[in-house]
Amino acid sequence: MKKREFIKTGAVLAAGALVAPLSSCNSDASSADAKKSEAKNITTTKFELPKLPYAFDALAPNIDAETMQIHHGKHHAGYVRKLNAALEGHRLAGKDLKEIISSLGKDDTGVRNNGGGHFNHSLFWNIMKPGGGKVPAGKLADAIKSTFGDFDKFKEVFAKAAATRFGSGWAWLAVDGAGKLFVSSTPNQDNPLMKGLVKETGTPILGIDVWEHAYYLNYQNRRKDYINNFFNIINWEAVAKNYDMI
Ligand code: MN
Repeated sequence: MKKREFIKTGAVLAAGALVAPLSSCNSDASSADAKKSEAKNITTTKFELPKLPYAFDALAPNIDAETMQIHHGKHHAGYVRKLNAALEGHRLAGKDLKEIISSLGKDDTGVRNNGGGHFNHSLFWNIMKPGGGKVPAGKLADAIKSTFGDFDKFKEVFAKAAATRFGSGWAWLAVDGAGKLFVSSTPNQDNPLMKGLVKETGTPILGIDVWEHAYYLNYQNRRKDYINNFFNIINWEAVAKNYDMI
């Protein structure tokens, strides 16, 4: 071995000898930290804003980038933040979101509005995609046909529910307790999972947000145009997956 090579190797070994005990110390420390934060998480589970599954401008021109940015980064983020605050010390704290919004009482206003807001928007982002639209396939297509007659008739019923929702709210395609599809609409951030609080109960598989914040920058008062264009970006594969999971 040449002298220079020996010095280099020796330096690496020495560094290795120094680093090894340090790193094992660190790993002990971090596993202790992990245990501590795990224990902490049991009592302070926080909901988090999910990442949008596409870019802010991906749904344009049907939904513009600025609307998406504000809708996701301000409105949805606000529901998540306020839900976490409303759940502090609440009997439903620590449950999963679906269970929370299926178990609400009439006085749970904060959890109802913000838990609904978090659930509804999380569903909404996932049932849209750039280059969506077209028509559903498979079992869901059969169920739509047997319930509504054909796809166009379904579209008409759904669009009407969305257009005629007075004020702010949502229109849904959902599945009832008997496994049958239905269309409904709910005010504010309610949804069909809210047993005892909404008229028609079931599990939503598709929803459209008809709050003005969802379309006003681009469509102003033309809610019907927004609803029509929403059909260009529906991710029917995701809706079919929601249907299959019930
Ligand atoms: Mn919204």
